[in-house]
Amino acid sequence: MTDNGDIINLTEAGALPPVDPGTPDDWGDGQLVDRVGRAIKNLRVSVTDRCNFRCHYCMPEEGLVWLKRDELLSYEEIERLVTIFASMGVEEVRLTGGEPLVRRDLPQLIEKLSRIESLTSLSLTTNGFTLEKMCGELVAAGLQRINVSMDTPVREKFAHITRRDALPEVLAGLEECEKYPELAPIKVNAVAMRDFSEEDVLAFAELARRKPYIVRWIEFMPLDAEGKWDQQDVLTGAELRAIIESRYPLVPVQDNRIATAQRFAFADGTGEVGFINPVSEPFCDTCDRIRMTADGQFRTCLFSRWETDLRAPLRNGASDLEIEHVIRGAVWRKEMKHYVNDPGFQPASRSMSQIGG
Ligand code: SF4
Repeated sequence: MTDNGDIINLTEAGALPPVDPGTPDDWGDGQLVDRVGRAIKNLRVSVTDRCNFRCHYCMPEEGLVWLKRDELLSYEEIERLVTIFASMGVEEVRLTGGEPLVRRDLPQLIEKLSRIESLTSLSLTTNGFTLEKMCGELVAAGLQRINVSMDTPVREKFAHITRRDALPEVLAGLEECEKYPELAPIKVNAVAMRDFSEEDVLAFAELARRKPYIVRWIEFMPLDAEGKWDQQDVLTGAELRAIIESRYPLVPVQDNRIATAQRFAFADGTGEVGFINPVSEPFCDTCDRIRMTADGQFRTCLFSRWETDLRAPLRNGASDLEIEHVIRGAVWRKEMKHYVNDPGFQPASRSMSQIGG
């Protein structure tokens, strides 16, 4: 990575054949688009790589080598970058981690971002461990939507998969969210893993019928820090749906927005579930998502093997326009798709907790 934030050549990354970088004339100065015309409207911002859980499919028990304080973007730097992204048509911002609620004073950042008028959605993905205590402050600061990661509703299994006996706290955090009608929807995200999730599928369906939560199943992706993922461990959305429909008929929910989830309502009208199937039914053709890591590295795909440094130009006095050009150039080269199902697939250059989902 060069100091002035130039993009690493794809060939060097050995991931994909070289891609024409385009020129500022190609990139345009309106809505942020890539070279095949995908309009980029959804930005995921990681605010920390640290987490208070140790999920087996994410990181080892001892954790990872954490970023140092001065490597992290400050809230002022994040606010400036998000403002630049918003000026190029990004409408939705989701805050992620690691676990974002472990970063001090997060409501201050939410308050800053909630002042960016052109944003239509400000959301957070959390493991919910401290949500009961923080929910009110987050909503008062301007948080609009929330995704709580919870892979099983069974306490012992939860303690096993996260290496934390914390299910009661997570459920209490979800209950606290129900007190704020302005915080909607409340989504529960569960990673589906073969020989682990099957027995929880109907319990989660009943949770979605009993509570104002949208339960979404996410197929297991090769983004674990230890590289143990195996295609055999993927329990597909179709398999999950079949288990639910063995007891509760589902009907598709029409949703014209670009979204990762296939949405279904229960035929009797009680609740909704969703399936995010990046492995068995990839949705890269309509991908509108980009990501920024906690240390200011810009990723145009979850599975990127190259990144663009936005922190260096930011701290080296670059103007907003110069930073905009760096972003537009990177987006122009956005990956066409992930290659998880392709021979010779090479994993992403970072693990999920270092990207932020
Ligand atoms: S894998 Fe990459 S291109 Fe595909 S949907 Fe995810 S972020 Fe978009």
